[in-house]
Amino acid sequence: MQYWKKLTRNEINQRVDEALNQNVDYHERTILGIPASHLDETVFNRDAAFQNNAPFLKTMVDNPNHIGCHTMGESEPFFAGTQKLEKELIGIVAEDILLCPAGQYDGYVASGGTEANIQSIWIYRNLFKRNHGAAYNEICILCSEDSHYSMHKAANLLNLDLVEVPVTDDTREVTRQEATASISKAISNGKKYFIVVANMMTTMFGSVDDVTIFSETLEAAGVDFKIHIDGAFGGFVYPFSTDNDRMTFKNPHISSVTLDAHKMVQAPFGTGIFVARKGLIDYVFTNEAQYVHGLDATLIGSRSGANAIAVWMILQTYGPHDWFEKIHILNYRTNWLCRQLNDIGIDFYRHPSSNIVTIRAKHIKPELAHKYGLVPDQHNNNARWYKIVMMEHVHVDHLMPFVEELKKEKENESL
Ligand SMILES: *Cc1c(COP(=O)(O)O)cnc(C)c1O
Repeated sequence: MQYWKKLTRNEINQRVDEALNQNVDYHERTILGIPASHLDETVFNRDAAFQNNAPFLKTMVDNPNHIGCHTMGESEPFFAGTQKLEKELIGIVAEDILLCPAGQYDGYVASGGTEANIQSIWIYRNLFKRNHGAAYNEICILCSEDSHYSMHKAANLLNLDLVEVPVTDDTREVTRQEATASISKAISNGKKYFIVVANMMTTMFGSVDDVTIFSETLEAAGVDFKIHIDGAFGGFVYPFSTDNDRMTFKNPHISSVTLDAHKMVQAPFGTGIFVARKGLIDYVFTNEAQYVHGLDATLIGSRSGANAIAVWMILQTYGPHDWFEKIHILNYRTNWLCRQLNDIGIDFYRHPSSNIVTIRAKHIKPELAHKYGLVPDQHNNNARWYKIVMMEHVHVDHLMPFVEELKKEKENESL
């Protein structure tokens, strides 16, 4: 562990205070040129007594802008203090969670998983164009049919075709056979460069792609490819619930990873995390961003520094061991639910390292799904599956009445 160590509340307070002191204080210093200030004081409380034990709120009111990427080159000096904490946060994620060699990465806190996925596909599209003279219609995005819809946004925005590999209905897996078939078809349609997005837990099923199927079939086909991991849901879960490190930077085929802190980490919305091997982000460097110190290699532009501080605070409060325990408690609850469903004879999908249980809709009346807030794979009464996500607030005591009702429905069904 390079960066990640449990800190006390006092230590966290102190570190955030130090960081804010290194940021610009518009009251103390005359700053005439930047279109930024603290939050509007006629509306938002700057009372010290109120803020002193609330480092996140203090940072919100202080309102640092984290525009740009702070693991590389230069950044806006006005917000250097909190940007340094963001750099530490990226260090925790890249080195301590995703096993990247020290300093061999760039990354930033994006608006969410959607942005981080688009950022990665944007990088590889430009890389294939610049290094290989690829035309856009020779490049495609390759991912499983269970992938998040942000891949469709990326394809549309970046003018690329999307090739979806079908999955097996009950295992939600991309098989070697299906991958080979989809790749051959894409090649016969003129595709030479593949941007793979492999799932580290899908949104609906929590399923995890076998990334070696993608790398081996593409190598066998003799085409160029880059692999991005979509860990928007699973990035803070899967690395703690498995020993398999094929989706980390230990695997030389993995170039970048998306994680969302606003899902399982319970950080404020606006905290997607993008991490890539060092240098790749340079392919989306916008040289025209001349008014930004250090220019800009991110998709978003201006963004809240308080978001980065919130994620840093959460991870530092737990430390690696408490975080591991937290994930294992969620998995314990997931195991409990799966045992009950097996006993009643309900069909469901669950990846063994995941905290999502996805139940076949044929077992669940829409009223029951509605009562317990289950989420369907499709709305408008076309559900084939309903999912349950084991969050901090989902206890076995909340699952029990649901299981009881499901059992009754099942018994009535078989009468
Ligand atoms: C939620 C999710 C996304 C999109 O993330 P947002 O933060 O909503 O933009 C992308 N991929 C997966 C697998 C997700 O679960």
